Amino acid sequence: MSAKKRKTDLPIVVVGGGPSGLLAAISAAEGSKKVILYNKNPWPGKKVSTIPAEELILSEKLSPKILASKFGSKSKFVAPIFKSFGYGDLAKLFKKLKLTLQADNNGHFRIESINGQDLMKILVDTAIKRGVEYKKSSRVTSVYTKNGKVGGVILNGTKIQASAVIIATGSFSLPKCGSTKDGYYIAEKLGHKVNKIKPAFVDLIIREKYGKFLSGMSFENIKITVYYNCNPVIMETGTIKFTQTSVSGPFILNHSADIIENLALTPVEISIDFLADQPKEKFEAWLIHQLASQNHMQVGQFLGKYFNANVMKAIELESRINMSKSISHITNLERKALVLGIKDFRFSIKSSKPFNNARGVLGGVSTDDIYPDTGESKIVKSLYFAGDVLDVLGPYGGYNMQFAFSSGYVAGKTAAKATG
Ligand SMILES: Cc1cc2nc3c(=O)[nH]c(=O)nc-3n(C[C@H](O)[C@H](O)[C@H](O)COP(=O)(O)OP(=O)(O)OC[C@H]3O[C@@H](n4cnc5c(N)ncnc54)[C@H](O)[C@@H]3O)c2cc1C
Repeated sequence: MSAKKRKTDLPIVVVGGGPSGLLAAISAAEGSKKVILYNKNPWPGKKVSTIPAEELILSEKLSPKILASKFGSKSKFVAPIFKSFGYGDLAKLFKKLKLTLQADNNGHFRIESINGQDLMKILVDTAIKRGVEYKKSSRVTSVYTKNGKVGGVILNGTKIQASAVIIATGSFSLPKCGSTKDGYYIAEKLGHKVNKIKPAFVDLIIREKYGKFLSGMSFENIKITVYYNCNPVIMETGTIKFTQTSVSGPFILNHSADIIENLALTPVEISIDFLADQPKEKFEAWLIHQLASQNHMQVGQFLGKYFNANVMKAIELESRINMSKSISHITNLERKALVLGIKDFRFSIKSSKPFNNARGVLGGVSTDDIYPDTGESKIVKSLYFAGDVLDVLGPYGGYNMQFAFSSGYVAGKTAAKATG
């Protein structure tokens, strides 16, 4: 391409073929612009392609304002993006693509009979139909600038001129599926700050050896309390699953980002209540009464009426009471330890599982140098960022893909408008 070519004749280049890159390419092409999308993998959105239909969750049907409020400290940043392209706009686009949305029991939307792989294929086909040049197995290594503006991208050592570049390279979660840190490196080289990344929506490794007994067990609708520096901070009824070394399940995935952030500052413990239907305040009196009437039994025989053998072994490990001890011989201190083992069964969090187990990432390209209404860089003109590459993390349950779709769409639309 001639260096003298008019800026407006140059393509908009999208880097990354996941949800954010595909929506960026689709919306940029709506403006009849020449658009090239480079995707590192031979197939689009490999990460999303791993999601089976029953696990592919979209956000709830929420107004842009309420949707933005779900993003905590980033609500102000994401609000204008959702205002321009919110849940309703995505639903309209999906309807055009003949994708049927259905609400599940929690009010979150799912796409009827569609898994992640089908969704990515439909979006690639849509982009190609709208004239996007879709280049697979193409890894962009950097973006070059000219007089503070985007000049283009470097691909296999060759310069490709562009009127605008949209970085939609995703986060570093699930690197086994081809995620890279490329977007962070590209941003840093251009003067953007990248906030330290940590895995999120991920299993948490515990210090104690309870997995020996509880591995594979799932405790549903159980009372769970999370303590930061001994203070109860999160109290919910939820589901926890144990593996050999970690805890998992919906409660853990939902709160892992917050727990990991706090783990850097303070000890974190989680407590579960094995007999939630017994009020905590009255439990010791109840236990005294029960034990007195059955003091001919061993502790294990008594507990066997309420718990299975593995849970009892875990309680034994925590309370240090020998299950073969006769009830008539247990001391007051041992009884108190038993109360804690049953009603306040605690374990401490050591770390999270690594990025390869994570469904999200904390950190990324700082939003400080990004215009919130467009995703454009404040440092390099005509450079845009969209999706997971940004330091934006919503709660678990469909919000992050919604942000990827919304921010991609808005960046593509703005780039097309800005480049005439
Ligand atoms: C197992 C799992 C399940 C999930 N389930 C859900 C869910 O149900 N609902 C939900 O909302 N979210 C879910 N998520 C999160 C969701 O997948 C992400 O929020 C979303 O994929 C982000 O889209 P993205 O386009 O920003 O990034 P990605 O989907 O990561 O796409 C980035 C793309 O860029 C490409 N790329 C990277 N570097 C380069 C380069 N240098 N040059 C060219 N291309 C490059 C990658 O190959 C990839 O195709 C899940 C995540 C995981 C891991």
